Amino acid sequence: MEELIGHCRICEKPIYCRMGFLDGVVQSDQTLLCFDCSAAVHEEQMSVDQEE
Ligand SMILES: [Zn+2]
Repeated sequence: MEELIGHCRICEKPIYCRMGFLDGVVQSDQTLLCFDCSAAVHEEQMSVDQEE
């Protein structure tokens, strides 16, 4: 059982909910990211934080 939730904001890969487990990450602004893009964005935010 899987349900299409939406598409990754960055690479537009479809993101499914499989057996109650989301195939990606919902951001605080309600956009979706796949795990690959989520990791990339997280690294970007980390580097920004370090510069502040
Ligand atoms: Zn993606």
